[in-house]
Amino acid sequence: MLGKSLFTIALIFFLPDLFGQGKSNDLQITPLTGDFYIYTTYNLYEGEKIPANGMYLVTAKGVVLFDTPWDTAQFQPLLDSIKVRHQKQVVLCISTHFHEDRTAGLEFYRSQGIKTYTTILTDSLSKKTNKKRAESLIAKDTIFNIGGYTFETYYPGPGHSPDNIIIWFNEQQLLYGACLIKSASDDNLGNLGDANKLEYASTIKKVQKKCRNPKYIIVGHGDWTDLRSLKHTGVMAEDLRKIKAGKSTMK
Ligand SMILES: [Zn+2]
Repeated sequence: MLGKSLFTIALIFFLPDLFGQGKSNDLQITPLTGDFYIYTTYNLYEGEKIPANGMYLVTAKGVVLFDTPWDTAQFQPLLDSIKVRHQKQVVLCISTHFHEDRTAGLEFYRSQGIKTYTTILTDSLSKKTNKKRAESLIAKDTIFNIGGYTFETYYPGPGHSPDNIIIWFNEQQLLYGACLIKSASDDNLGNLGDANKLEYASTIKKVQKKCRNPKYIIVGHGDWTDLRSLKHTGVMAEDLRKIKAGKSTMK
């Protein structure tokens, strides 16, 4: 008897795993708050396995995806997991800049009938660098209303990339910062290949001004639970600016 109830408890305990995320660790889904979930996939960067965070929001009108998985093997598993967990389809997907950890799944999702979005600037960079592209383009900061939720896209200027946007949920005070914002535990700004070293710091200041007292700050890679991430990124960006400015005056 005891054995059976223990088995039942174990089954209930592992149920979300069996039906939601599968047995692999290649796709992790973590509840954030209310209808918001963070999903994490992995890819190799300079020989190291690196996690990338995206987010999704479950609304009455379907699920909204913020960025696509970095791991191309997880495009369909993410849709399947969302379907099983929430009995809903993904209807919309917005990528926050042109790098692959944000855009890799855009064409796949478009082929599945999902409305895909990037800014015009992101699209031009995607086109130039042979990245996957969205079907619909937004020309300026845009407010989306869907299934009872409101959020806005905001372009604060160049930082991590020339085109990085953030998504702000004013009601929830949720800042989806993606790769523009580094984790509080990061000791550097990561991939600066397309970064604007002089303007990164002022771009972060604009985000701080726009998004007052965020309760949640979602970073592109690693831990998002420490809200010092935004300020910490600003400090690192200011250091970067000083080094860069110093170098240009020395010439
Ligand atoms: Zn990134």
